[in-house]
Amino acid sequence: MRGSNSPAPRCVALQGEIGGPIACSVYADRPPPCRELQVGDDKCQRARALHGLHIVL
Ligand code: SF4
Repeated sequence: MRGSNSPAPRCVALQGEIGGPIACSVYADRPPPCRELQVGDDKCQRARALHGLHIVL
């Protein structure tokens, strides 16, 4: 999604504040890469680290 490949990734479909309540505004229609990503996988961990969030185990 647009915004996902910036130095501090932020998808335009993401609603809310990172670190607080947050949700995908197009969840039911999200594209394949979003469906493939798993919580805690390498891409998830990289995005979390870029936003200063702890690692998910
Ligand atoms: S799951 Fe939703 S908010 Fe997250 S990257 Fe995909 S479209 Fe954007």
